[in-house]
Amino acid sequence: MDYIIASHNLKKRDEISRILNPLGIRVLLAEEAGVELTDAEETGTTFEENAFIKAELGCKESGMPCIADDSGLAVDALEGAPGVYSARYAGSHGDDEANNLKLLKELEGVPDEKRTAAYVSVICCVYPDGRKITVRGECAGRIGYTPKGNGGFGYDPYFLPDEYGYKTTMAELTAQQKDAISHRGKAGRALAEILGGNKIDE
Ligand code: IMP
Repeated sequence: MDYIIASHNLKKRDEISRILNPLGIRVLLAEEAGVELTDAEETGTTFEENAFIKAELGCKESGMPCIADDSGLAVDALEGAPGVYSARYAGSHGDDEANNLKLLKELEGVPDEKRTAAYVSVICCVYPDGRKITVRGECAGRIGYTPKGNGGFGYDPYFLPDEYGYKTTMAELTAQQKDAISHRGKAGRALAEILGGNKIDE
């Protein structure tokens, strides 16, 4: 079965695809599905609201089951920022370099043990008949000081997951290692479990 994903982020698509492909689900970008999707305005104040806004619009415009991931980084010392504004923290949407620079600046002088943070991913799936599924995954870690690694995207070069003892950034992990511990990996597996059992909310 084909699902469309309401995102231009190829890395996000690949991470979700790797988990859903074994269920026989192909996760297509709009251009691969031959449709045009409007970029939804992310006016929600929670990951759940924004994931639903994107998935609902994508489903309506494509007529296909639509998946949307709304995700971000919540830093404890910054009272949960950048949170739902992670993609546009420094002003322009998706400017990873500027976002990371701003994050480091905001954390100047904050010691190791107070640089705790969590990645959050909420994946929402909306079906043409109105059914929907929402799942959430989190991954705890700390924010480092210097970028390391070429994998992943966004804040990954600075994110030191708990599981690797704050010695390895998310960007230094292989795709499989990231999937095993990441927020999106956890949300994706929760979704796969529901789809495998066909439990979909009315
Ligand atoms: P969204 O596309 O509105 O959901 O924004 C997601 C933003 O959160 C991205 O642009 C990144 O800044 C950040 N983010 C989410 N997931 C990850 C991840 O797995 N690694 C690094 N950054 C992430």
